[in-house]
Amino acid sequence: MKILAVNAGSSSLKFQLFTMPEETTIVSGIVERIGYDNAAVIFKINGQKFVEDHQILNHKVAVDMVIHGLLERKVIESLDEIKGVGHRVVQGGELFKESAIIDDDVVAKIASLNDLAPLHNPANITGIEAFRKALPDVIQVAVFDTTFHQTMSEDAYLYACPYEWYQKYGVRKYGFHGTSHQYVSQRAAEILGKKDAKVIVAHLGNGASICAVKDGKSVDTSMGLTPLEGIPMGTRSGNIDPAVLMLVSSKEDKTYGEVLDELNKKSGYLGLSGFSNDSRDIIDGMNRGEHRAWLAHQVQVKRIADYIGSYYVYMGGLDAICFTAGIGENAPEVRRDVIKAVKVLGIELDEEENNKRGERMISTKDSKVKAFIIPTNEEVMISREVQRLMNK
Ligand code: AMP
Repeated sequence: MKILAVNAGSSSLKFQLFTMPEETTIVSGIVERIGYDNAAVIFKINGQKFVEDHQILNHKVAVDMVIHGLLERKVIESLDEIKGVGHRVVQGGELFKESAIIDDDVVAKIASLNDLAPLHNPANITGIEAFRKALPDVIQVAVFDTTFHQTMSEDAYLYACPYEWYQKYGVRKYGFHGTSHQYVSQRAAEILGKKDAKVIVAHLGNGASICAVKDGKSVDTSMGLTPLEGIPMGTRSGNIDPAVLMLVSSKEDKTYGEVLDELNKKSGYLGLSGFSNDSRDIIDGMNRGEHRAWLAHQVQVKRIADYIGSYYVYMGGLDAICFTAGIGENAPEVRRDVIKAVKVLGIELDEEENNKRGERMISTKDSKVKAFIIPTNEEVMISREVQRLMNK
């Protein structure tokens, strides 16, 4: 059975076609720069990359291009072969405690959450609508970044602000990267052979979040109402005293919105280093002895360690820490320094294993708490959800 996993952004559309339940990738790709003159459709088939340049006005055209490309490249013989489409949706709020089969009502509910994710949910809906038009008879499923965290209890998800803000506006922690945290923590539990494992997942990419998982359920996570909260990221500040907004807006004659934009787009690695949001540049700078590159790295390492310590206490122990996403999977220096920072928990780094790539244990055999690299796969998780709901 073939299932398509889709991730629609404001100007891009990523896709991956799987054979399920084998979970083998038949084709993956991306439509880039939708709405611009220099858009491109990229297909990756059997390790080969095909790039087509087109003018792609909107998501509907992008979806038609993808479908046309699948047929033209003989990836599929007919559209009937696609039995389900899974869509990544960023914000499911409290309305979605699990993935949902898409109908008009579900689309309206996703749209009702636009205030909570103004950059993401409208783009996700555009992708959904385009695929519903193109494949009207195929089951389509919304898989939310937030549902995995809906198991958090009130003490973890509520902010200590006026309770009415939660009641009236939904001000609370939702958390994100849920499909990734779920995929990685499930894999860790499998490796450990322990269903009730206590696991911390460090999803460290350009966006980054930490999640505490106990008995397969998210009990706390670092991102909040929006993906700005938590640890410092490529360009996001992570936690900061909200009073900074008032100070900087009055000193620089900017609106709160403008200062917030700088906390989203000009902070984190970029803000502290002054030159890059990319961990490779930060590590190179650090190796050249540049203090601000070291600072960008060290502030992030400290904050990650802070979360690990706090989640260790909250869960009453810990079996494993898992590193995933662009930085977590590829930057041994970040893993090394985080593990060193939480050594007191009974975790010892295996330097040799840490310098390799791919799924592996990077702590010594005797470590009380284990550490793993587990490459994430959000698309597989989305396809699993489509399959699960189809079989329900
Ligand atoms: P993601 O958002 O998961 O795609 O991750 C993006 C981040 O991963 C960027 O900061 C990249 O610099 C980082 N990254 C990707 N490859 C490497 C690598 N080989 N070494 C260090 N960092 C990497």
